[in-house]
Amino acid sequence: MVQRRNTHQRQLVMEAVEELADHPTADQVYARIHEREPHVSRATVYRNLNLLAEQGQILDVKTPGADRFDFRTDPHAHLVCRECGAVVDVPDPTSPGADKDAADRTGYVDVSHYTVFSGLCPACRIKGV
Ligand SMILES: [Zn+2]
Ligand SMILES: [Zn+2]
Repeated sequence: MVQRRNTHQRQLVMEAVEELADHPTADQVYARIHEREPHVSRATVYRNLNLLAEQGQILDVKTPGADRFDFRTDPHAHLVCRECGAVVDVPDPTSPGADKDAADRTGYVDVSHYTVFSGLCPACRIKGV
């Protein structure tokens, strides 16, 4: 029973990340779920986000200011607007062997990386901020 509830909650979190699509923050995911299922707590949403990220089912994108979540898990980089914090996907400029290369050079294991670009998005550019 507990297991089934956990699975249901994880499913809700997964769906919210996918529906919001545009790299939501944990708060945005929580707000989305809360609209439909008010009994689901913020702690539950946060726990499931971290769990899904650990399992590699979603990406935990570290951007300045907040962690954002992404249902796209193939290798890609992110471009963040320095004014409004909007996040878009961009191609990963790092070569496919970069993690292994870094591991080989240093003796580190379990090496991964993420790339975040910064810029001014079109909407903010028009607003002239
Ligand atoms: Zn912007
Ligand atoms: Zn992304």
